[in-house]
Amino acid sequence: MNHLRFDAVSNLANLQAPVKFETASKITAIFNENVFTLKTARHYLTDDAYKSLLASIRGGKKIDRAMGNQIANGLRAWAESKGVTHFTHWFQPLTGLSAEKHDSFFTIKGDGTPIEEFEGAALIQQEPDASSFPSGGLRATFEARGYTAWDPSSPAFIMEIGEGKTLCIPTIFVSYTGESLDTKTPLIKALVALDKAAVDVCQYFDKNITKVTATLGWEQEYFVVDAGLANARPDLLLTGRTVFGHAPAKGQQLEDHYFGAIPERVYAFMRDFEQESYKLGIPLRTRHNEVAPAQFECAPIFEEANLAVDHNTLLMDVMSRVAKRHNLKVLLHEKPFAGINGSGKHNNWSMSTDTGVNLLGPGKTPKTNLMFLTFFVNIIKAVHNYSDLLRASIASAGNDHRLGANEAPPAIISIFIGKYLTNVLNEIEKRVGGDFDETDEAILKLDIHKSIPELMLDNTDRNRTSPFAFTGNKFEFRAVGSAANCAGAMTVINSIMAETLKNFKNEVDGIIEKGEKKEVAIMQVIQKYIVESKVVLFEGDGYSAEWEKEAAKRGLPNVKTTPLALDAFVTKKAKALFEDNDIYNHVELEARHEIMLEEYVKKVQIEARVIGDLATTLIIPAAVKYQNTLLQNIKGLKDAGLDESAFASQKAIVAQVSKHINVISENVTKMIEARKKANELTDTRAKAIAYCDDVKGNYFDIIRYHVDKLELMVDDATWSLPKYREILFLR
Ligand code: ADP
Ligand code: MG
Repeated sequence: MNHLRFDAVSNLANLQAPVKFETASKITAIFNENVFTLKTARHYLTDDAYKSLLASIRGGKKIDRAMGNQIANGLRAWAESKGVTHFTHWFQPLTGLSAEKHDSFFTIKGDGTPIEEFEGAALIQQEPDASSFPSGGLRATFEARGYTAWDPSSPAFIMEIGEGKTLCIPTIFVSYTGESLDTKTPLIKALVALDKAAVDVCQYFDKNITKVTATLGWEQEYFVVDAGLANARPDLLLTGRTVFGHAPAKGQQLEDHYFGAIPERVYAFMRDFEQESYKLGIPLRTRHNEVAPAQFECAPIFEEANLAVDHNTLLMDVMSRVAKRHNLKVLLHEKPFAGINGSGKHNNWSMSTDTGVNLLGPGKTPKTNLMFLTFFVNIIKAVHNYSDLLRASIASAGNDHRLGANEAPPAIISIFIGKYLTNVLNEIEKRVGGDFDETDEAILKLDIHKSIPELMLDNTDRNRTSPFAFTGNKFEFRAVGSAANCAGAMTVINSIMAETLKNFKNEVDGIIEKGEKKEVAIMQVIQKYIVESKVVLFEGDGYSAEWEKEAAKRGLPNVKTTPLALDAFVTKKAKALFEDNDIYNHVELEARHEIMLEEYVKKVQIEARVIGDLATTLIIPAAVKYQNTLLQNIKGLKDAGLDESAFASQKAIVAQVSKHINVISENVTKMIEARKKANELTDTRAKAIAYCDDVKGNYFDIIRYHVDKLELMVDDATWSLPKYREILFLR
């Protein structure tokens, strides 16, 4: 008999007050405490080393060997002052997690003297064994070398959760032959491409702009459940989601969780992981309950996109580690519970200039109005032209349970811009022939800066069902999965924006060369882009069935599953885009496509195994046991001389349970067959499709349906999997 479920429930009742931890009186007192910020660097580095570091961060300048040694020494001195003995290159391989390989500063010199040292070479480059990270065939196993190389634009930090303290150096991860094996390398390249293309366009408006940075503010949704209960669910442990579980009598229908009081144990956990995050320089700002029971969200102040991505990866790690201290488990999966809202990670994205202007902040003068409109319309154009890539950038086995599944949001990429801007675009579109005037009153003197904040920042004008929404001074890409590394979405958004801006500039320059005024040329291309891409604009309810129909009429793609969505990465168009902007070459793209398909296959394969195992070894035995109890009861009643009517319901239940057992058992057998067949396929895409349609599509739901029916019938005392009501409501 499996006691985990009942032990977990009774342990909860005995649970002491929330775990104690140190709290700082002020966030500013601990913020960046464990980060090698420029301020700290100034303190620990010589003038030359500091200048070299700064030049590398600001202008991407290479750091030479001598300077590398000096910086490494400074870093070590700082880290040692904080009790650090080990360092690691911290990188984000294509597993979606972060990876580390720890080395100590300790070494023994040629003459046998033991010393602590950290050389520039060790700071700048390392060679972890790449063979255990996904490479999509980029690296034959005999050539397992891969390199991590320092990314000075994201500062080094000290990770001190759990045992020991480690100096972490954010790095990129590339193969021996130079292809990227991580999420950071292409992101940095996309950010460089965007910078160049955006600065070129900014020059039309302000010659002082020399750098444009993409900004990202993510909102992380997650579930928190008791660790004891989670540990009694093998499916949660192995797949991150519950593959079975009947909806509880009380779900989220009362809508009493959103912005409700945060439960005490969770509140302690939140404050604890926030403290750890602040020390690491993650600028968390908000925390609150989400819609579903046991669901929460946190969001930081936005940052430069590369740093923001690192911070999100780090946060997910910190949350999971800190949760352990509180005997809790964080679920980052997109859909841990059927019938309960899933989790996303909204990516708020914008661009800002080195003159301090947010390019998606509506302007206050005619000139800045036009700059705003230019960037705004270019985004619409980019999303329209590459909506398939955006969809692909968020595709994963987990996110398939949200996008395009029976619960919203849909897999259709559309843009919400609000009433006011819709009118502005309509006005521009109506000017047939593009007879614009350089001082065009109607367009350039719109009170965009006054009206948008009023309309957009008012929550009533915020369409929450749009996957890509303008929210006053930024776009919010809402379809990103909660477990995803934001780099995937950010690489695509910044790449397509770079490409679109480049084309925009070519078109505008072409018109100017023919003798047209700059402002007029810009307005003409803006008008053209509006006409070409307006089908992607949608202001209505993105979750409705009508929208699916309407979107189909408009020819917008609606790809519901990952294996097919990923095709967008290897189209001619995608290859051209990424190669022209020096983000991925086609070998890297093919490899990534392969890796993502493989990951999908593995995830579904594990789920299928877990479903089969649990059904066979936990569910059916519990049902049989219950049947035996009933049969004994029937026999007893019969022996006591009672007639049929005394045990008619028991008999009916026994028969009903048998029916469910049969369907489950039959389908588990067939599912195993389907899996075997899928495994025989050598083409990874075909295999992924087989796993999606034949294994998952044909069997997951039907098995679950009958298991969940049994859960409602079988004696609660023999049911060993914690039920939704316990996982979601006990803490
Ligand atoms: P909400 O979406 O709940 O209204 P906010 O408007 O405060 O919340 O912003 C949500 C997220 O958007 C935060 O992480 C915030 O830092 C981020 N954000 C705000 N402005 C920008 C910007 N210009 N670029 C990128 N992210 C931004
Ligand atoms: Mg939001």
